[in-house]
Amino acid sequence: MVKQAKSQTTPSTKAPNRSPTIQPSNPQNADLGVAIEHPELLTPGMILQLQATHGNQFVQRMLKNSRPPIQREDDESADVAAQALVQHESQSAEATVQPLIQREGDETEEKTLSERINEALDGWGADVNQIMEMTQTASAAEKQTVLNDTTLMSRLSGELNRGQMLQLLGNLNALLRLRLTAAMDGWGADVQTIISLTRNASDEEKQAVLDDSSLISRLSSELSRESMVRVLTNINAPLSQRITVALNGWGEDFQGILDITAGATAAEKREVATDQTLMTRLIDDLSDEQMQQVSANLGIQNAAVFTNSTDTGNEYTSLATLFPNGLTIAKDVKFIEEGTFGEGGFDALNGRLIAAVTSYLSNKFKVKITPGTGGEANDADGDYPIEVKVNNDSSANYPMHMHGGLSGRSAVNESEGNIYELGQASQASIDDITLAHESAHMVLGASDEYANASVSGRVVSDDNSLLGNYYTQGVDEAEIKARHFQFLVQLVSTWYPDRNVSIKQV
Ligand SMILES: [Zn+2]
Repeated sequence: MVKQAKSQTTPSTKAPNRSPTIQPSNPQNADLGVAIEHPELLTPGMILQLQATHGNQFVQRMLKNSRPPIQREDDESADVAAQALVQHESQSAEATVQPLIQREGDETEEKTLSERINEALDGWGADVNQIMEMTQTASAAEKQTVLNDTTLMSRLSGELNRGQMLQLLGNLNALLRLRLTAAMDGWGADVQTIISLTRNASDEEKQAVLDDSSLISRLSSELSRESMVRVLTNINAPLSQRITVALNGWGEDFQGILDITAGATAAEKREVATDQTLMTRLIDDLSDEQMQQVSANLGIQNAAVFTNSTDTGNEYTSLATLFPNGLTIAKDVKFIEEGTFGEGGFDALNGRLIAAVTSYLSNKFKVKITPGTGGEANDADGDYPIEVKVNNDSSANYPMHMHGGLSGRSAVNESEGNIYELGQASQASIDDITLAHESAHMVLGASDEYANASVSGRVVSDDNSLLGNYYTQGVDEAEIKARHFQFLVQLVSTWYPDRNVSIKQV
């Protein structure tokens, strides 16, 4: 009888969350049948009925199995149901409930899905069809219970082949990461399945895979470069990550790089075009002709990695990228947490350095390109405001040690930087102007301009320069100067040899 009620009322192939047919305030017999399949939908009233008809043990087991540890949308109902059970137990003596469904003593009905699967696995050879059917028609709660049963899951993966295991995980609505892992277990990887699983997953699942670095690295080691690029594209990986994979290994996947860059959004293109580490690799690994095609896809007019030396002999390398509407100088920095920061203090200090670069160095000057003497105008002519930026990049070559809770003399050299959160001994906190000053060395390769007897030939300035002695000349008046961008004249002239190039105030 119960079996009949179930088969008539259970939307067996539908997930319960998609079409909840239960009206908790009005439990009908039919609803009760559905609820046996989907215990997470049980109302307290239904539980009373089930206890009367099926016995308390059955109901307890069903409720226990209806509470998977990961259950996002139905957290409430199982709790309500469990609470109702507790309440009912305490007053069961006086509870009088009319049986609504007659039972016929069908013992198999009380077996959980896990028990039934174990039975299908017992004996000579597993009854695969039966397992598939059971798992397909089970409730979401039952499926989760099976997924959480590690003993059963490992028994299943021992008995089923990979294709069967993947089908089973699909039936159980297993997380994408589990299904991807199954597709890689055994000999070789099931590439087609991995590509189709990642293509069809929800955005949430895609992000979960993207955030799982060990899964990503296993995928990288199992898949060909081309397949890995496809998978990363499927799961909406950042453009830089996809290009990096296309560059890895023997030679590079140039067509892949063209496809990736052509299909990107404007914001993604801009991010790649000002990513020092990635652009350096692209420039190094691709031929000039290939780089021109990639640059065109990225909306870049020209790009170059440049190195400037200070009068103390330190060499600093950054990236210059010319866009139709401006020129960006970018440096990737790997911030390293040292000392002891307060809550959020490390990120805050990194953010302060990045912001100081923007406010002191960005959009103060522009590169002006004009026709040479007597020359014709062309597309390159125009004004290009100079943006200067520091990228917080954990894979960057340049380490910047950020010392939390410590005083000290902040300084940079070509190998590393050291910034002290509390500033010098006389201060309570490092000044923004010092963060900008040190960054001017690190990003532009600008020399100091204050007197230092040990540096021969030092040009000492007295014009409120950010690189001069601003403590005597005035902190508020200090600013970056046109001379600190003069190197761009030489660089841009290599791109446009027949043009006049100059640095002007914005
Ligand atoms: Zn300095």
